[in-house]
Amino acid sequence: MIIDCHGHYTTSPSELQKYRDEQIAGLKSPASTPAKANLKISDDQIRDSLEGAQLKFQRERGTDLTIFSPRASAMAHHIGNETTSRNWTEACNDLIYRVVSLYPENFVGVCQLPQSPGISPGNSAAELERCVKELGFIGCNLNPDPSGGHWTSPPLTDRHWYPLYEKMVELDVPAMVHVSSSCNANFHATGAHYINADTTAFMQFITGDLFKDFPTLRFVIPHGGGAVPFHWGRYRGLAQDMKRPLLKELVLKNVFFDTCVYHLPGIELLLKVIPVDNILFGSEMVGAVRGIDPETGQYYDDTKRYLDALELSDVDRKKIFEGNARRVYPRIAAKLDKKN
Ligand SMILES: [Zn+2]
Repeated sequence: MIIDCHGHYTTSPSELQKYRDEQIAGLKSPASTPAKANLKISDDQIRDSLEGAQLKFQRERGTDLTIFSPRASAMAHHIGNETTSRNWTEACNDLIYRVVSLYPENFVGVCQLPQSPGISPGNSAAELERCVKELGFIGCNLNPDPSGGHWTSPPLTDRHWYPLYEKMVELDVPAMVHVSSSCNANFHATGAHYINADTTAFMQFITGDLFKDFPTLRFVIPHGGGAVPFHWGRYRGLAQDMKRPLLKELVLKNVFFDTCVYHLPGIELLLKVIPVDNILFGSEMVGAVRGIDPETGQYYDDTKRYLDALELSDVDRKKIFEGNARRVYPRIAAKLDKKN
């Protein structure tokens, strides 16, 4: 089985964005704020939105199951207030639940959280619990920067985040560290803000003692870990200078990387540097980079091709494509084993 740990509903029916636009317009005139009940999307619209995109690519590329969450760039936690974020998040998560209900063989849900700048992450615990217990989701996307590029929250190792971590541990679900759109013109969302955040989160994990307090807490750092694998020596050296433990003891029991790196040399480096037990197959399709590489004639985000091109043992290949996802997202194992 091939599990893609990183997919977003980037092709959702236009009604969802229309609801969001009305919600944002309603921030200026609260009387016109749309009710969630007004969001009407049919099952056929959902099927149409997926058949020619994510499902087509799953079939063409030979992947089986995508860990699927709302469109990350649209989370935009910086817009409006906590209520704005909560209503938008619930609408997006409910739609993922409908996708998973229509295609239980192809998708399993991961939720967006109703974060908002200056609001305790603990306030997102109830939505996480709803999604896991009532909707059957297996993890969440955690935005380390709800301000959208201004980094006004404390580092992820700060106690500020602990109330949410307590709920993650209780439910035994991981978080993918995933920022959203950037409202800072210096940072292009997917080209700079995303990769910055991946790198930033890793450095935060090195400097704090988070995993002493939460030994079973797990994070997936997407996009191949940002700049981390390329600069692995820097991070090892910094940890050493700071008298921190070795990285494998400090973070590698709790932090994992996906394979959303869109060229073969990048995947080769990732595999060379990061232990195979810490790498989960992911493509982020249909996502940030949708084109075809003229040098190979293949889609940049067809990351399975890069892994197929590598000489890996069957044991390692199985870990990357399936086994590690089962370990990091134990609720997926429960679902899969129930089916078999
Ligand atoms: Zn993503």
